[in-house]
This record gives sequence, C-alpha cells and structure tokens, in this order.
Amino acid sequence: MRPSLVLYATLAVAPTAAAQAPPLRSAQPAPPVLIKAGRLIDGRSDGPQSGVGILIEGDRIKAVGPLAQVQGQARGARVIDLSQMTVLPGFIDAHTHLLLQGDPTAESYNEQLLYESTPYRAILAARNARIALEHGFTAIRDLETEGAMYADVDVRRAVDRGEIPGPRIFAATRAMAPTGMYPIVSDNWELELPHGVQPVDGVEGARLAVRQQVAHGADWIKYYSDRRYYFGPAPDSVLHSWVNFTDDEARAIVDEAHRLGRKVAAHAIGSDGIAAALRAGVNTIEHGDGMTDSLLEVLVAKGVYWVPTVTVAYYVAGPRGGAWGPMVEHQHRAFTRGVKKGVRIVLGTDVGGFPWTELNQAKEFEYYVQYGMTPMQAIKSGTSLAAELLGQRDLGVIAAGAYADLVAVAGDPLKDVAELSRVRFVMKGGVTYVSP
Ligand SMILES: [Zn+2]
Repeated sequence: MRPSLVLYATLAVAPTAAAQAPPLRSAQPAPPVLIKAGRLIDGRSDGPQSGVGILIEGDRIKAVGPLAQVQGQARGARVIDLSQMTVLPGFIDAHTHLLLQGDPTAESYNEQLLYESTPYRAILAARNARIALEHGFTAIRDLETEGAMYADVDVRRAVDRGEIPGPRIFAATRAMAPTGMYPIVSDNWELELPHGVQPVDGVEGARLAVRQQVAHGADWIKYYSDRRYYFGPAPDSVLHSWVNFTDDEARAIVDEAHRLGRKVAAHAIGSDGIAAALRAGVNTIEHGDGMTDSLLEVLVAKGVYWVPTVTVAYYVAGPRGGAWGPMVEHQHRAFTRGVKKGVRIVLGTDVGGFPWTELNQAKEFEYYVQYGMTPMQAIKSGTSLAAELLGQRDLGVIAAGAYADLVAVAGDPLKDVAELSRVRFVMKGGVTYVSP
C-alpha cells in the first residue's frame, strides 16, 4: 500500500496557472521559486552539499549554489523550505508497464487481456501514472502495453497536456515477438486470442512493424529476444534460453529503429537471448538474469545499458516456481560482478509485473545497495545514468538549465537508502505535486 502521508500530501497540488499549462511546454510566466535545500544530492556529484539554494523559473532550474548566493538572484521568489530535508533529482524508472496490474502467473496475465477492455486498462494506467509521480518518479520508460495497443501514447499525451498528473513518459507501444512466441497462446486453434505484443515475422515484417509503431508514437522500440529459461545440467551453471528472432530479423528491427531515430530495448533473460540481442546491436538489455562474465564485458565494450528489474524478479519467483527462484540468485551474483566491471546498470523495476498499488518502485534502490552498489551509485542509476540511457541531458540532475524535476526525503538516503521509498516532496517541471 502507498503510505497515507503521501496520499494526503498530494491534495496540495499545483498552482493554478501552471496546472493549466502543459508541463513540458509551459510558456506562461509563473513566479520564480526558491527552494532551500538542507542537503543536496544533485545526481552527478560524488558527494552531497549542504545549505543549497535552487532557483526555478517556469519549468526549468535557473541557478543552483550556496543558499546565500542564490538568494541574491531570487528577489520576489516564492520560497519552499526544505532546509530539514535531502533534495534529489526526480527518480527515473527505465522499465515500467502502465497498462499492466501484476502478472505473477499466466492466469493473472490472461485475465487482464481477455476480460478487461483497453479503455478500462487505460483508466488504471492513468491512476498508475499518478502513483509513480507520488513515489517520486518524474520520468519513466514504459516498455510496452501488453496487448493494449497504443494506449501508452494516449496516457503520455494526457500527462503532457496537463489533463492528469504523471511522470514524463517515454513510450514503447506494442513491443514485438515472432508468431507463437508470446502470450496468449492457446491449444484451441479455433480462437484468435489477444496478442500481448505485435506478432512480427521476417525481415520485411520487422521493418514494417518498427515503422508502424513509430508512426503511432513510439519513443522506443522493444522486442522479446528470448523465452523458455533453463539451467544447463551440472556443473553447467549457465542460464540458457530459446532465442525468438533469427539474427537477420533482430538486426532488421534494430537497424530500422535506429534509422528512424529510436533506440531499442531487448527483453533478454537467458545468456543465449542476451548474446543474440547484443549481436543485433540493441541499446539496452532488460532483466538480463543470465549475464555471464563475457557478456558483461561486451556490455562495457559496446556501452550497452543493463536494466535488471530486481523487484519484479523477487515478486514473481514464488508464484512462478521452477527456475525463477534460482534465476534471482544467478542475477544477484552477476549484478555484483557487473558493478565491479563498471557496467552501466540503470534502475528499472518492471512495475506492472507487480501491482502498482502493492509495492513502491523505489524498493529497487534497496536491492541495488544489497547487491553491491553504494547508495550514491544506486541514486545515480535511477537519476543521471537513467537520463543518459534516455538521451535526455536535461533530466536526472539538479543543475542550471535542467528541468525542475526534484524530490525530497526527510532523512539521509546515503545512510539509509530506504528513505527513497518515503518521498515528502515531489516537483515536476516546476509544478509541486507532493508537499511536506
Ligand atoms: Zn517488463
């Protein structure tokens, strides 16, 4: 459940002028805001600073520096006093599913695709966008709608127009897998059942699918590199998988996406699926439970990001059984080695794979610290590094010129990273959504 404090705090919402303007392109001159930050973690620096002033004009940060200095430029500014708190950049979750409400089992997944209309699912997605923002996530990469077609683009539009509160959304729309390799698959061949992804076959089909998705608003392209995960017989401790696309098909997806200025995320759990995705030239590996040392080295060499989604791995391991429990342990060990090797690990939770209403996405930060990151590394993975993955220089950092997306927590997250699950203040694009 969400902390009740956050629920009540959201009643203090946006100033009227800002609420009517689309947060991403607010042209109306709002009064400047001076935030007094007791402690600042700016998302890029290696250490915190204390006694900082942050001057905000419109939807951007105008100045950041010692409070006395910034105060001099802030005449007439409205003051927000966070002098007892730690201020950080708004969090970024690089792997979400707004249109999904948890799918620990095949039944829970099929239930949503078979018995819920896309409009109903979109209404829940609007609620989920609000939950994400209240948890401090001011940007998300939403990695496919699971059968709800292009509804993520509609949610993105409603947020951008200021119709509903929510994070900045980078949408992947439908995702892709070859015919018969993604749910819902049934033994009853007389029924055409809903597809969780866009079925895509052949090199020409791959290029067409990328063009269709981009035409309908995709910011990112996602495809499923593998399925059917299993450990080889002892002493082989490698996590294997069945690869979905031929190399030619996967390369066509990546090439066409890049030609159209879109980056590519690959769902790749087993080592075979990860290797295939890396051969195809993808930009990010999702889940990556089966990482081996040699694959980690390819990630470093090619500058590919790894989005591990640990929270969902724990959530589904029990209900799914089989290899899913040992996969969590395998990923834990690979993650720890990846941190040491300097792999660019970016925070992603797969929320939607677990219900938005049950767990706070910020739990993911805690796993990363348990797995070997310092709290500061974990914070960067969910702020500046995630912004780098998105190619958004003006997100994930508290610096002059960046968007005024920031959060505050009462304690010191460098001492207790769980503080990040208890945000007391959330601002996006200069608009306050949660107040202490
Ligand atoms: Zn996912």
